[in-house]
Amino acid sequence: MSAADRLFAAPPFPRARRPHFLAALRETARAQQARFPVLRALYAREGFKPASLINELAVGRLPYFHVSVFKENDFRPAAPFRAALTLTSSGTGGQKSRIVLDAGSLRRVKEGAERVYGALGMVDKTLVTNYLCFTYDPRQARDLGTAFTDELLTSFTARGRVHYAISRPRPGAEFRFDLEGTLAALREMAGTGLPLRVLGFPAHVLFTLRAWRERGWPSLRLGKTSWVMTGGGWKGHQGDAIPKDEFKAQVSSWLGLPAANIRDLYGLVEHGVPYVECRRGRMHVPDYARVIVRDPRTLEALPYGRKGLLHLVTPYLTSFPSYSVLAGDWGSLAPRCPCGTAGEILSLHGRAGKSPAKGCAVTAAELLK
Ligand SMILES: [Zn+2]
Repeated sequence: MSAADRLFAAPPFPRARRPHFLAALRETARAQQARFPVLRALYAREGFKPASLINELAVGRLPYFHVSVFKENDFRPAAPFRAALTLTSSGTGGQKSRIVLDAGSLRRVKEGAERVYGALGMVDKTLVTNYLCFTYDPRQARDLGTAFTDELLTSFTARGRVHYAISRPRPGAEFRFDLEGTLAALREMAGTGLPLRVLGFPAHVLFTLRAWRERGWPSLRLGKTSWVMTGGGWKGHQGDAIPKDEFKAQVSSWLGLPAANIRDLYGLVEHGVPYVECRRGRMHVPDYARVIVRDPRTLEALPYGRKGLLHLVTPYLTSFPSYSVLAGDWGSLAPRCPCGTAGEILSLHGRAGKSPAKGCAVTAAELLK
């Protein structure tokens, strides 16, 4: 068993960080360096050696690329590599990452996610649950990252009916959000008496809620085994954005489920580790990853409470060079949460523009020559 396998087989929120993580990260850094010439070039230039990852402080010295680098370049490993899954991120402005997972990376990312959700009380394999996914129908968008996420998020219970809200009305047509079909599916699923999980962008959830109310239909009573799991922020729907507490209050009263069962999630396809809200509405950092908040100008690591760009590190990924990536999002960290579950707390403060940390992307382009 590799050190990375051991890490992802262990609980996600231990009281104290374990040495497993550093052992796994050294192992992954070595494998990544051997596989990807671009990392060899980066590490040589930065004077970085995987063996130097001996303590938590050293993790902050692990070199990284800005996430845009993975959207602008194709880093698929050379033959004889066997991909178990290829994912395409749903990039804005036509920029997409194409990420490949080998069998080990795929197994670890799935196992890690299930343990994170399990620790936060959201896994019950015996409970038959219906799903309303405000995402692309995976039968029509097989390699999109969202399809993989849906497949994963609907695997934490026994699956009842699964409805996808975004589909092509005809083969070859553009994807569209099918409001009428979604409202009909929701009515039918609410009538079954089974628990329901709603997955997707908050803007879509709110849009559907408002359409439901405009029709004068009564609020639902889905109960405490039903959940709403949002992600992706208000991208492209900034005008509709409402504060998180207000969103939770509205959705809770509309669907008739506890506000504590409405959980937001942060993640990116290039990184794969989910940061999921606890019952207190705070995103916990699992021991499967490290988050370093960086000053947007100097890229120095910032202390707790300071806002900066998020540098995300995880050792599960051996088949794509984004295991250390600077995200295009603002965030800050706090040491702990009053909910009792351990792990640092990640707060999000929106998306960064194109300009911060552009230097990293330029560096990658130079290295690839
Ligand atoms: Zn918490």
